Amino acid sequence: MNEFTQKTAYSELAKKYYPEALESLVNFIKINSVNDESTVSDDKPFGQGVRDALDYVGNLAIKLGFNVDWCDHYCTEISYGEGELIDIYAHADVVPVSKDWIHEPFGAQIEGDNMYGRGTSDDKGPAIAALYALKLLKDEGKLEGFKVRMVVGGNEELGSRCLEHYFNVMHKPYPKYGFTPDGDFPLIYAEKAICTYTHTFEIPGLANPFEWGDALNIVLADASITLDDISTEKLEQARYIYLENYPQANIKIEGHTVTFKGKASHGSLPWFGSNAGLHLLNYIARLRHIPELRSLFHLYHHGDGKRFGGDYKSDNFTDSSYCIGKIKYDGEKLTFYVNMRLPETINPQDACDNVAEKMGGEVKLLSSSEALVIDPKSDMVRVLMDAYQKETHDYTSKPLAIGGGTYAKESKNTLAFGSAFPGRDNRIHDNEEYISLDDFYNSIAIYAHGIVNLAKLVKKA
Ligand SMILES: [Zn+2]
Repeated sequence: MNEFTQKTAYSELAKKYYPEALESLVNFIKINSVNDESTVSDDKPFGQGVRDALDYVGNLAIKLGFNVDWCDHYCTEISYGEGELIDIYAHADVVPVSKDWIHEPFGAQIEGDNMYGRGTSDDKGPAIAALYALKLLKDEGKLEGFKVRMVVGGNEELGSRCLEHYFNVMHKPYPKYGFTPDGDFPLIYAEKAICTYTHTFEIPGLANPFEWGDALNIVLADASITLDDISTEKLEQARYIYLENYPQANIKIEGHTVTFKGKASHGSLPWFGSNAGLHLLNYIARLRHIPELRSLFHLYHHGDGKRFGGDYKSDNFTDSSYCIGKIKYDGEKLTFYVNMRLPETINPQDACDNVAEKMGGEVKLLSSSEALVIDPKSDMVRVLMDAYQKETHDYTSKPLAIGGGTYAKESKNTLAFGSAFPGRDNRIHDNEEYISLDDFYNSIAIYAHGIVNLAKLVKKA
């Protein structure tokens, strides 16, 4: 019992299923299902670990009385009933683990109300909660008059090739309504368009070739360079002046090597980070007297586009974001790799044209996903909010619009519904990821209630 637990018909029913759900979750967590190139084969498109996890959840579903389609081992489709489709999308793959874990990352250790382990919150816990919600409803005779599919993917963390296979190769139909338990409660009705572009400038003689950063969707936090042609005294002097202007900068000089340490932040929230690459370029620009490079620092560093008129807004979103995750220099050309997130009202190419017009240089749009907006006044949002509120009595949390992208974008008529409760940080993608077992229990009741509410909509239509 926690602040979100209420005594309701569904939470009472969930009690009976909780012990078995918990045991299933422990077994699921114990499968190391990081995508593994080294064991990929035709029947293991994402490697052995993901295959084991997809098999586990499918065999569990068969045991619970559901139909299973193994989907060429890209996903496991669990289904029941006939009629209009209601879908649930969860994933069985997890991100790699670092050495910083205190608890065993694949141990599913329970301490107090928390279970620790990779995937406990993202996304195995929510997947198991949704599966037992279905089992509960099936036993109660409430999965009648429609068809429910729960699709558990194996590649969400590396680009969702799982659902791409499901819809584009297997040509499975899209649902009438769908949700993914791979985001936040109460629900996420809008997600920005996520785009990447390169921004290139000709700047010969800047330095020896370099490449900083690797992930595009994280603020570049580490950058260093060796400037052999500049005396160590000059480098030190420039450091001193730099710190006068930017007292927060973390800059270190060893011989002719200059290193900046910034602060990483998610690509949707670059303003919470500090870009080490932009700082280092700004530092070099002062030494080499390259004013255009200095102005680039000022234009890009906040990450909100305000200084170059790229801060688009819409009814659903209050901002846009520009995150530089990678910077490359080949001796002639300097290239920024930018992760840009936009409201639904602005065309990504137009946003790129604006960048080129205001800052100069050459801008090339590499990829873009469309924004997702489900009318916050729609029946779907209304009935899912109703399920959440009746089960938790949380009437203050509002539907969310976010900059991040969820699994919902891979389907249609689909939004993220849980499973992180308001105010929680479950350390997903980080060491010591965990789930509150009370949250896990509560979400079984919320999902059961949510599916029944959606079913009423499809049966009415
Ligand atoms: Zn996830």
